Amino acid sequence: MATAATTSSPLQLPPLPYAVNALEPVISAETLSFHHGKHQQAYVDNVNKMIVGTELAGLRLDQIVTATVGKAERASIFNNAAQAWNHSFYWHCLKPKGGGEPPAALKAKMEMAFGSVDACKKELANQAVAQFGSGWAWLVLEGSKLKVVKTANADTPFTQGLKPLLAIDVWEHAYYLDYQNRRADHVNAVIDKLMNWEFARVNLESFEPSRYG
Ligand code: MN
Repeated sequence: MATAATTSSPLQLPPLPYAVNALEPVISAETLSFHHGKHQQAYVDNVNKMIVGTELAGLRLDQIVTATVGKAERASIFNNAAQAWNHSFYWHCLKPKGGGEPPAALKAKMEMAFGSVDACKKELANQAVAQFGSGWAWLVLEGSKLKVVKTANADTPFTQGLKPLLAIDVWEHAYYLDYQNRRADHVNAVIDKLMNWEFARVNLESFEPSRYG
């Protein structure tokens, strides 16, 4: 539905859902301020510049992602728009004092697909570490089954027929100031101490890409 009421031009950087130091010591305020205030801001600014005068002007961010995926002549717009979207989604995947026991509905899905919660977490960590170069690891729903997938660069599961529940950013800008080359240490700390399982449960019930602009 592309009515005037759903358009948002220019696109805005959404605020973080917590204070910039709220994820310390796992993710420092310095990392988070650069990651949100510089990297994500740049993706948003780039999209705004690149869509001027195109058929994409005035669309929501998720609509721009959907309209440009797989189109070679729109690759730069897709990369920036999908990265902006992935980050808006990702901030909700983390929370202060996260980790711990997933809610019952999610736990049941994890046990069905992976055998146990720990096996699911391990697969998420493995895929996050295995992604060669920049990209993301995701907990997704394929049909009614839980899966872990990785995507390269800006690629995002919601354009691939998958429903994203959680994301872990494994671009170096997500961890390099705090962990340098130790991606696995970062990923394990995120899963154990910051993962917002409740957010995954909400997406399990109703995922809507337009929520993340
Ligand atoms: Mn990032």
